[in-house]
Amino acid sequence: MRAPHPHAANDPRAPAIEVRDLRKNYGDLEVLKGISVTARDGEVIAIIGGSGSGKSTFLRCINLLEQPNSGQILISGEEIKLKTSHRGLEPADRKQVERIRTNLAMVFQGFNLWQHMDILHNVIEVPVHVLGQPRDQAIATAEDMLRRVGLYEKRHAYPSFLSGGQQQRAAIARALAVEPSAMLFDEPTSALDPELVGEVLKVIKDIAGEGRTMMLVTHEMAFAREVADRVIFLHQGRIEEEGASDQIFSAPRSERLQKFLHSIR
Ligand code: ADP
Ligand code: MG
Repeated sequence: MRAPHPHAANDPRAPAIEVRDLRKNYGDLEVLKGISVTARDGEVIAIIGGSGSGKSTFLRCINLLEQPNSGQILISGEEIKLKTSHRGLEPADRKQVERIRTNLAMVFQGFNLWQHMDILHNVIEVPVHVLGQPRDQAIATAEDMLRRVGLYEKRHAYPSFLSGGQQQRAAIARALAVEPSAMLFDEPTSALDPELVGEVLKVIKDIAGEGRTMMLVTHEMAFAREVADRVIFLHQGRIEEEGASDQIFSAPRSERLQKFLHSIR
């Protein structure tokens, strides 16, 4: 048995993300039924599963966009302080939540760019207005990030003038600009036309190759197999199976996972 608090906060040996027995209900609907996952530093974890299995809810709880009913979440060894309220557990320390949320960049299926700002301003918004970085420095970082995702030339364009693939790459540049300790992706290519999926996957693969900790919900199984160290298969709010990505895809053990993989091939 592991001790409940094996590492001090921000201990470099602590896992990047550790979730213990996370539960979440919406009313009577139990969506997460006790999920425990540990992402070591630099590990890429793919989360797969059918629609409604709880994948988005899981990521949203880690990022505190949703309030779990019970469980613990530790980011780099720092436990997110939660307190009991009539709605379940809610963050007890707003400042901590803000800090942790900016440290865990999330990329959504629908990009979620600010439409009234050009791409560069989308990328510098949080660094300047939340993290208090000097503007010049934030712009220099943003330009670097936009170069990395191949969008430097588009930095003065507004989101609506970009393709979906470009918008998602801009959203990834924005996520990278806060130098997150881990990145959470929720079906980053599901809203894209098929011909635009590849350019976004390539950017994600490059970032994964830099040794960033990632949790990635995806339906792109070939991609998951290629970039993920480990795969978690969720079924009705439980981890039905998890393992090294090769094992999961070439030798799935559970019948449900076999069926799932068969259904999406
Ligand atoms: P997935 O991302 O795996 O498709 P979700 O996490 O989005 O699954 O949803 C899991 C379940 O929780 C689904 O049954 C969904 O309808 C339900 N759900 C998600 N968000 C809400 C909400 N805000 N209120 C009520 N039910 C929700
Ligand atoms: Mg989802």
